[in-house]
Amino acid sequence: MSVWAILVAAGRGERLGLDQPKAFAKLGEDPLLAEPLRRLDASDWIDGIVLVAPPGWEEPSILLAEELACSKVHSCVPGGETRTESVRAGLAEVPAAALVVLVHDAARPLLPEEVIERVLASLSEGWDGVVPGLAVSDTLKRVGPDGAVQETVPRDSLYAVQTPQAFPSDVLRRAVADGAEATDCAALVEASGGRVKVVDGDERLLKVTTAADLAKIASWL
Ligand code: C5P
Repeated sequence: MSVWAILVAAGRGERLGLDQPKAFAKLGEDPLLAEPLRRLDASDWIDGIVLVAPPGWEEPSILLAEELACSKVHSCVPGGETRTESVRAGLAEVPAAALVVLVHDAARPLLPEEVIERVLASLSEGWDGVVPGLAVSDTLKRVGPDGAVQETVPRDSLYAVQTPQAFPSDVLRRAVADGAEATDCAALVEASGGRVKVVDGDERLLKVTTAADLAKIASWL
């Protein structure tokens, strides 16, 4: 089974309030991008990597991969305006021979090897997609623009979904082909009729959105 990873790192990260894109915010000594790149490259499950860089940052991204001596990075392409466009750009670089594609957010730098193993193991049971998720523990409310609660949403059976997300490559190619948009790849596969399974996620897969997230992840390193 040939497994290719698409590492999407083209987000602007405006909420971090930095001059450079989120992927180049400092996490310890290195740019944030270094951590997920190093982990994907070291994974026994991954055969090749396509890096989707912030537009204009392809060269520093390639240099970083070289500095880290990443041997699996096959290409680096500029991302698009939205996450889905960035995935589409990355997928175009994945060879036709790849059977499985694993899409991961660079903004979730602490990628545990066991989560990669978990999503791939379930995918081999015949699902159209497998994603890691955590059961929601807070009470959820739908709130109007004036701050008034409109309803309390029952939280049983609700999951907060993370990446890495795994798909048979032909399923993902079909799902992104029609120009639809979504905040994760699984939603595109679901919309095209695919059956997606949630497996146990991991607290360490926290997504960096604010400076406080970055500080928390740095303390976990
Ligand atoms: O913006 P969001 O938090 O959904 O970003 C999740 C991941 O998608 C991040 O790793 C980000 O770099 C990536 N992304 C991208 N291209 C975009 C927007 C987000 O590669 N246009």
